[in-house]
Amino acid sequence: MLEMILEKIREYQTIVIHRHMRPDPDALGSQVGLQRLLQKNFPEKTIKVTGYTEPNLAWLAEMETVADEEYQGALVIVTDTANQARIDDKRYNQGDFLIKIDHHPNDEVYGDLSWVNTSASSCSEMIAQFAFDMGLEIDADIAYLLYAGIVGDTGRFLYPATSAKTFDIVAKLRQYEFDFAGLSRQMESVDYSVAKLIGYVYDHLEIDENGAARVLLSQTLLKEFGIGDADTAFIVGVPGRINTVKSWGVFVEQPDGSYRVRLRSKFLPINEIAKRHHGGGHPLASGANSYSIEENEEIYQELKQVAADASE
Ligand code: AMP
Repeated sequence: MLEMILEKIREYQTIVIHRHMRPDPDALGSQVGLQRLLQKNFPEKTIKVTGYTEPNLAWLAEMETVADEEYQGALVIVTDTANQARIDDKRYNQGDFLIKIDHHPNDEVYGDLSWVNTSASSCSEMIAQFAFDMGLEIDADIAYLLYAGIVGDTGRFLYPATSAKTFDIVAKLRQYEFDFAGLSRQMESVDYSVAKLIGYVYDHLEIDENGAARVLLSQTLLKEFGIGDADTAFIVGVPGRINTVKSWGVFVEQPDGSYRVRLRSKFLPINEIAKRHHGGGHPLASGANSYSIEENEEIYQELKQVAADASE
Protein backbone atom coordinates (compact mmCIF):
# COMPACT_ATOMS: atom_id res chain seq x y z
CA MET A 1 0.00 0.00 0.00
CA LEU A 2 2.74 2.48 0.95
CA GLU A 3 4.53 1.69 -2.31
CA MET A 4 1.33 2.33 -4.26
CA ILE A 5 0.84 5.70 -2.55
CA LEU A 6 4.44 6.70 -3.25
CA GLU A 7 4.01 5.61 -6.86
CA LYS A 8 1.00 7.92 -7.24
CA ILE A 9 2.87 10.79 -5.59
CA ARG A 10 5.71 10.32 -8.09
CA GLU A 11 3.20 10.36 -10.96
CA TYR A 12 1.67 13.80 -10.27
CA GLN A 13 3.16 17.26 -10.56
CA THR A 14 0.52 18.97 -8.38
CA ILE A 15 -0.72 17.55 -5.09
CA VAL A 16 -3.40 19.14 -2.88
CA ILE A 17 -3.79 17.90 0.69
CA HIS A 18 -7.04 18.21 2.66
CA ARG A 19 -8.11 17.11 6.16
CA HIS A 20 -11.21 17.31 8.34
CA MET A 21 -13.23 20.36 9.40
CA ARG A 22 -12.59 21.85 12.83
CA PRO A 23 -8.97 20.70 12.63
CA ASP A 24 -7.12 19.42 15.67
CA PRO A 25 -3.33 19.00 15.98
CA ASP A 26 -3.43 15.56 14.34
CA ALA A 27 -5.43 16.81 11.36
CA LEU A 28 -2.95 19.66 10.84
CA GLY A 29 0.14 17.65 11.77
CA SER A 30 -0.69 14.91 9.25
CA GLN A 31 -1.78 17.34 6.53
CA VAL A 32 1.06 19.86 6.77
CA GLY A 33 3.59 17.24 7.92
CA LEU A 34 2.85 15.33 4.70
CA GLN A 35 3.09 18.52 2.66
CA ARG A 36 6.52 19.40 4.06
CA LEU A 37 7.67 15.80 3.66
CA LEU A 38 6.73 15.78 -0.01
CA GLN A 39 8.16 19.25 -0.60
CA LYS A 40 11.46 18.11 0.86
CA ASN A 41 11.64 14.91 -1.14
CA PHE A 42 10.10 16.18 -4.38
CA PRO A 43 11.13 19.86 -4.57
CA GLU A 44 10.08 20.10 -8.22
CA LYS A 45 6.40 19.42 -7.40
CA THR A 46 3.71 21.89 -6.32
CA ILE A 47 2.23 20.67 -3.04
CA LYS A 48 -0.49 22.67 -1.31
CA VAL A 49 -2.70 22.48 1.76
CA THR A 50 -6.22 23.80 1.91
CA GLY A 51 -9.03 24.34 4.42
CA TYR A 52 -9.90 26.73 7.20
CA THR A 53 -7.07 28.16 9.31
CA GLU A 54 -8.03 27.41 12.90
CA PRO A 55 -6.91 30.53 14.86
CA ASN A 56 -6.18 28.51 18.02
CA LEU A 57 -3.76 26.35 16.07
CA ALA A 58 -2.30 28.95 13.72
CA TRP A 59 0.95 28.60 15.72
CA LEU A 60 1.16 25.06 14.35
CA ALA A 61 0.08 25.51 10.75
CA GLU A 62 -1.72 27.86 8.41
CA MET A 63 -3.53 27.05 5.19
CA GLU A 64 -2.90 28.28 1.66
CA THR A 65 -5.03 29.51 -1.21
CA VAL A 66 -5.57 26.87 -3.87
CA ALA A 67 -7.11 28.04 -7.16
CA ASP A 68 -9.81 25.88 -8.78
CA GLU A 69 -7.58 25.36 -11.84
CA GLU A 70 -4.88 23.79 -9.67
CA TYR A 71 -7.11 20.75 -9.16
CA GLN A 72 -6.98 19.95 -12.87
CA GLY A 73 -4.87 16.84 -13.30
CA ALA A 74 -3.85 16.97 -9.62
CA LEU A 75 -3.48 14.25 -7.02
CA VAL A 76 -5.64 14.94 -3.94
CA ILE A 77 -4.79 13.35 -0.59
CA VAL A 78 -7.16 13.57 2.39
CA THR A 79 -5.68 12.88 5.81
CA ASP A 80 -7.37 12.03 9.13
CA THR A 81 -10.95 12.17 7.78
CA ALA A 82 -13.30 9.19 8.01
CA ASN A 83 -16.16 10.44 5.86
CA GLN A 84 -16.54 12.79 2.93
CA ALA A 85 -19.04 15.07 4.68
CA ARG A 86 -16.29 16.03 7.17
CA ILE A 87 -13.66 16.91 4.57
CA ASP A 88 -12.76 20.58 4.75
CA ASP A 89 -12.91 22.26 1.30
CA LYS A 90 -15.39 20.45 -0.89
CA ARG A 91 -13.19 20.59 -3.98
CA TYR A 92 -11.44 17.38 -2.84
CA ASN A 93 -13.05 15.41 -5.67
CA GLN A 94 -12.06 17.83 -8.41
CA GLY A 95 -8.61 16.31 -8.84
CA ASP A 96 -7.57 13.45 -11.08
CA PHE A 97 -6.97 10.85 -8.35
CA LEU A 98 -8.02 10.73 -4.68
CA ILE A 99 -6.17 9.03 -1.80
CA LYS A 100 -7.56 8.62 1.72
CA ILE A 101 -5.07 8.21 4.60
CA ASP A 102 -6.79 7.75 7.96
CA HIS A 103 -6.86 5.98 11.30
CA HIS A 104 -10.60 6.22 12.11
CA PRO A 105 -12.91 3.20 11.66
CA ASN A 106 -13.44 2.85 7.92
CA ASP A 107 -17.21 3.36 8.03
CA GLU A 108 -17.19 5.17 4.72
CA VAL A 109 -14.85 3.94 2.05
CA TYR A 110 -13.92 6.71 -0.38
CA GLY A 111 -11.11 7.57 -2.76
CA ASP A 112 -9.41 5.74 -5.61
CA LEU A 113 -6.91 4.42 -3.11
CA SER A 114 -7.30 4.21 0.61
CA TRP A 115 -4.87 3.42 3.43
CA VAL A 116 -6.75 3.06 6.71
CA ASN A 117 -5.00 1.79 9.83
CA THR A 118 -7.32 1.85 12.84
CA SER A 119 -4.57 0.62 15.13
CA ALA A 120 -2.47 3.72 14.50
CA SER A 121 -2.63 6.23 17.37
CA SER A 122 -2.96 9.09 14.95
CA CYS A 123 -2.82 9.95 11.30
CA SER A 124 0.47 11.76 11.98
CA GLU A 125 1.92 8.43 13.16
CA MET A 126 0.89 6.93 9.79
CA ILE A 127 2.58 9.75 7.86
CA ALA A 128 5.73 9.27 9.95
CA GLN A 129 5.60 5.52 9.29
CA PHE A 130 5.20 6.23 5.58
CA ALA A 131 8.28 8.48 5.66
CA PHE A 132 10.45 6.02 7.58
CA ASP A 133 9.34 2.87 5.72
CA MET A 134 9.76 4.49 2.33
CA GLY A 135 13.17 5.91 3.25
CA LEU A 136 12.09 9.52 2.69
CA GLU A 137 14.12 12.38 4.07
CA ILE A 138 12.75 14.15 7.16
CA ASP A 139 13.83 17.39 8.81
CA ALA A 140 13.14 19.15 12.13
CA ASP A 141 10.09 20.99 10.76
CA ILE A 142 8.44 17.79 9.59
CA ALA A 143 9.30 16.00 12.85
CA TYR A 144 7.78 18.90 14.81
CA LEU A 145 4.47 18.74 12.94
CA LEU A 146 4.16 14.96 13.15
CA TYR A 147 5.16 14.88 16.80
CA ALA A 148 2.52 17.54 17.58
CA GLY A 149 -0.13 15.44 15.83
CA ILE A 150 0.79 12.29 17.74
CA VAL A 151 0.83 14.14 21.08
CA GLY A 152 -2.55 15.67 20.26
CA ASP A 153 -4.35 12.46 19.39
CA THR A 154 -2.82 10.35 22.16
CA GLY A 155 -3.48 12.98 24.85
CA ARG A 156 0.28 12.96 25.27
CA PHE A 157 0.51 9.16 25.34
CA LEU A 158 -2.44 8.74 27.71
CA TYR A 159 -4.96 6.93 25.50
CA PRO A 160 -4.88 3.18 24.83
CA ALA A 161 -4.19 3.64 21.10
CA THR A 162 -0.64 4.59 22.15
CA SER A 163 1.37 1.53 21.12
CA ALA A 164 4.97 0.31 21.12
CA LYS A 165 5.03 1.42 17.48
CA THR A 166 3.92 4.92 18.53
CA PHE A 167 6.87 5.17 20.91
CA ASP A 168 9.22 3.76 18.30
CA ILE A 169 8.13 6.43 15.82
CA VAL A 170 8.21 9.19 18.43
CA ALA A 171 11.74 8.17 19.45
CA LYS A 172 12.83 8.55 15.84
CA LEU A 173 11.11 11.93 15.45
CA ARG A 174 12.67 13.19 18.69
CA GLN A 175 16.11 12.76 17.15
CA TYR A 176 15.50 15.85 15.03
CA GLU A 177 16.39 19.21 16.57
CA PHE A 178 12.99 20.84 16.95
CA ASP A 179 11.89 22.90 19.94
CA PHE A 180 10.56 19.93 21.90
CA ALA A 181 10.10 21.73 25.23
CA GLY A 182 8.48 24.75 23.56
CA LEU A 183 6.04 22.53 21.69
CA SER A 184 5.16 20.53 24.81
CA ARG A 185 4.57 23.75 26.73
CA GLN A 186 2.50 25.23 23.91
CA MET A 187 0.27 22.16 23.74
CA GLU A 188 -0.20 22.16 27.48
CA SER A 189 -0.98 25.90 27.80
CA VAL A 190 -4.49 27.34 27.94
CA ASP A 191 -5.83 30.88 28.08
CA TYR A 192 -6.88 32.05 31.53
CA SER A 193 -10.52 32.07 30.32
CA VAL A 194 -10.23 28.38 29.42
CA ALA A 195 -8.70 27.63 32.83
CA LYS A 196 -11.76 29.26 34.43
CA LEU A 197 -14.06 27.18 32.25
CA ILE A 198 -12.21 24.07 33.44
CA GLY A 199 -13.15 25.14 36.97
CA TYR A 200 -16.77 25.43 35.84
CA VAL A 201 -16.68 21.93 34.34
CA TYR A 202 -15.43 20.39 37.59
CA ASP A 203 -18.09 22.31 39.53
CA HIS A 204 -21.01 21.39 37.28
CA LEU A 205 -20.24 17.88 36.06
CA GLU A 206 -23.09 15.45 36.66
CA ILE A 207 -21.81 11.93 37.37
CA ASP A 208 -24.09 8.92 37.79
CA GLU A 209 -23.44 5.89 40.00
CA ASN A 210 -21.82 3.97 37.12
CA GLY A 211 -19.44 6.71 36.05
CA ALA A 212 -21.39 8.22 33.14
CA ALA A 213 -20.91 11.98 33.23
CA ARG A 214 -22.08 15.07 31.38
CA VAL A 215 -21.77 18.79 31.34
CA LEU A 216 -23.61 21.37 29.26
CA LEU A 217 -21.90 24.48 27.98
CA SER A 218 -24.55 26.92 26.82
CA GLN A 219 -23.97 29.82 24.46
CA THR A 220 -24.66 32.22 27.33
CA LEU A 221 -21.98 30.55 29.41
CA LEU A 222 -19.44 30.49 26.58
CA LYS A 223 -20.04 34.19 25.99
CA GLU A 224 -19.70 34.90 29.69
CA PHE A 225 -16.33 33.14 29.75
CA GLY A 226 -15.33 34.70 26.42
CA ILE A 227 -14.81 31.30 24.87
CA GLY A 228 -15.43 29.97 21.36
CA ASP A 229 -16.43 26.48 20.27
CA ALA A 230 -12.85 25.62 19.26
CA ASP A 231 -11.60 26.38 22.80
CA THR A 232 -13.75 23.56 24.16
CA ALA A 233 -11.10 21.18 22.74
CA PHE A 234 -9.06 22.06 25.83
CA ILE A 235 -11.73 20.92 28.26
CA VAL A 236 -12.98 17.70 26.64
CA GLY A 237 -10.45 15.56 28.50
CA VAL A 238 -11.06 17.25 31.86
CA PRO A 239 -13.83 14.95 33.24
CA GLY A 240 -11.61 11.93 32.58
CA ARG A 241 -9.20 13.06 35.28
CA ILE A 242 -11.82 12.14 37.89
CA ASN A 243 -11.25 8.54 38.94
CA THR A 244 -14.95 7.58 39.13
CA VAL A 245 -15.76 8.87 35.64
CA LYS A 246 -15.78 6.19 32.93
CA SER A 247 -17.52 7.80 29.95
CA TRP A 248 -18.63 11.37 29.44
CA GLY A 249 -20.22 13.87 27.11
CA VAL A 250 -19.51 17.58 26.78
CA PHE A 251 -22.58 19.21 25.21
CA VAL A 252 -21.61 22.47 23.53
CA GLU A 253 -24.46 24.66 22.39
CA GLN A 254 -23.89 26.21 18.95
CA PRO A 255 -25.00 29.69 17.83
CA ASP A 256 -27.84 28.07 15.79
CA GLY A 257 -29.24 26.34 18.89
CA SER A 258 -27.97 22.84 18.01
CA TYR A 259 -25.38 21.02 20.14
CA ARG A 260 -21.99 19.64 19.34
CA VAL A 261 -21.60 16.63 21.59
CA ARG A 262 -18.06 15.57 22.34
CA LEU A 263 -18.06 12.03 23.69
CA ARG A 264 -15.12 10.39 25.43
CA SER A 265 -14.60 7.13 27.27
CA LYS A 266 -11.80 5.42 29.15
CA PHE A 267 -12.54 1.86 27.95
CA LEU A 268 -16.23 1.41 26.97
CA PRO A 269 -16.85 2.08 23.26
CA ILE A 270 -19.20 5.01 22.70
CA ASN A 271 -18.92 5.61 18.95
CA GLU A 272 -22.17 3.70 18.24
CA ILE A 273 -23.97 6.37 20.26
CA ALA A 274 -22.30 9.06 18.15
CA LYS A 275 -23.33 7.27 14.96
CA ARG A 276 -26.96 7.19 16.07
CA HIS A 277 -26.84 10.97 16.54
CA HIS A 278 -25.41 12.36 13.31
CA GLY A 279 -21.78 11.70 14.16
CA GLY A 280 -19.07 9.09 14.48
CA GLY A 281 -15.43 8.75 15.39
CA HIS A 282 -13.20 6.42 17.33
CA PRO A 283 -14.50 3.87 19.85
CA LEU A 284 -13.22 5.98 22.77
CA ALA A 285 -13.40 9.49 21.25
CA SER A 286 -16.36 10.45 19.11
CA GLY A 287 -18.47 13.41 18.18
CA ALA A 288 -22.22 13.72 17.67
CA ASN A 289 -24.70 16.46 16.85
CA SER A 290 -27.90 17.00 18.76
CA TYR A 291 -30.79 19.17 17.73
CA SER A 292 -32.72 19.58 20.98
CA ILE A 293 -32.56 19.34 24.76
CA GLU A 294 -34.53 16.08 24.40
CA GLU A 295 -31.88 14.62 22.10
CA ASN A 296 -29.18 15.68 24.59
CA GLU A 297 -31.12 13.73 27.20
CA GLU A 298 -31.37 10.68 24.91
CA ILE A 299 -27.62 10.75 24.30
CA TYR A 300 -26.90 10.92 28.02
CA GLN A 301 -29.34 8.08 28.69
CA GLU A 302 -27.51 5.97 26.09
CA LEU A 303 -24.20 6.84 27.72
CA LYS A 304 -25.63 5.87 31.13
CA GLN A 305 -26.86 2.58 29.65
CA VAL A 306 -23.40 1.69 28.31
CA ALA A 307 -21.88 2.42 31.74
CA ALA A 308 -24.66 0.49 33.51
CA ASP A 309 -24.26 -2.57 31.23
CA ALA A 310 -20.56 -2.62 31.98
CA SER A 311 -21.17 -2.38 35.73
CA GLU A 312 -23.43 -5.44 35.82
P1 AMP B 1 -14.06 15.85 18.75
O1 AMP B 1 -14.89 15.75 19.96
O2 AMP B 1 -14.60 16.82 17.76
O3 AMP B 1 -12.64 16.06 19.08
O4 AMP B 1 -14.15 14.47 17.97
C1 AMP B 1 -13.62 13.27 18.44
C2 AMP B 1 -13.51 12.29 17.31
O5 AMP B 1 -14.77 12.05 16.72
C3 AMP B 1 -12.61 12.76 16.19
O6 AMP B 1 -11.82 11.68 15.79
C4 AMP B 1 -13.54 13.18 15.09
O7 AMP B 1 -12.99 12.93 13.84
C5 AMP B 1 -14.78 12.36 15.34
N1 AMP B 1 -16.00 13.15 15.06
C6 AMP B 1 -16.37 14.29 15.67
N2 AMP B 1 -17.53 14.77 15.19
C7 AMP B 1 -17.89 13.91 14.21
C8 AMP B 1 -19.00 13.85 13.29
N3 AMP B 1 -19.96 14.76 13.30
N4 AMP B 1 -19.04 12.82 12.42
C9 AMP B 1 -18.06 11.88 12.41
N5 AMP B 1 -17.01 11.87 13.24
C10 AMP B 1 -16.91 12.86 14.12
